Amino acid sequence: MARLTQADLVGLNSVLETHTPQELLAWAKDIFGERVAILSAMQRAGATVCHMAYATGVRMDVLFVDTGVLFQETLTTRDRIAKEYGLNIVSLLPDETMEEQTKRLGVLYLTVEGQMQCCDLRKNVPLLKAKGKYDALVASLRRGDGGKRARVPILAIDEKMNCLRVNILANFSNEQLDVYIAEHQVIVNPLHAQGYATIGCNRCTTPVLPDEPRRAGRWRHLGPWAAYCGINPTDVDRGDESVEMPQELIDRIFGRKADFVI
Ligand code: SF4
Repeated sequence: MARLTQADLVGLNSVLETHTPQELLAWAKDIFGERVAILSAMQRAGATVCHMAYATGVRMDVLFVDTGVLFQETLTTRDRIAKEYGLNIVSLLPDETMEEQTKRLGVLYLTVEGQMQCCDLRKNVPLLKAKGKYDALVASLRRGDGGKRARVPILAIDEKMNCLRVNILANFSNEQLDVYIAEHQVIVNPLHAQGYATIGCNRCTTPVLPDEPRRAGRWRHLGPWAAYCGINPTDVDRGDESVEMPQELIDRIFGRKADFVI
């Protein structure tokens, strides 16, 4: 096995900047084969990635973390996308229901520390159940979302999952996203039309006012310091993460021909 760091990806990332999302999707499938999946929360951008997979015929599993306290509209969107786009959506669930967790640990999401523990138990731990199955996860983070995501790279190291994140929409602008959704009539969560700019668990998501930042509706009760759940490594990165992969796979990622085996 060999190590791959974020710094190793700088040159390749600048080459991939000129690729369209659909080309990046095809690139990921070509490099990782059966060991790549889409990770989608079924928000607008995640639904768009699902539509791109459907429209281009690039087949891969779709991972969906179901915290058990999502809005019914989100679950209905997931089910419509699975059926109408013919995608295999794998829902990953926490070990405990929210009721069981609350009996054991209390209402966690009302404090900053509790929110981190709750997100860990209900989002990060379920996703970790898929660790080892995939070398890459296609995600839908966009620089247009601002905040920590304003600098999200196309290829990002996911140390916890020991895989690469392929952010195929990283440089897809807000306008491009709007146009794609309208032109292709992408199935979108109806809550977006009710003022929910981004959508997570029903306990921790509210609509936003027109002049508020897009993420103001996430963990509003905790204030602006609790802006992310940690499921996306680039939201909380340290900058020195690395993953371990076979040298042959790393050579394939960089388009090099492997003439040796470790
Ligand atoms: S968003 Fe809220 S309810 Fe959902 S996992 Fe995180 S803290 Fe828990």
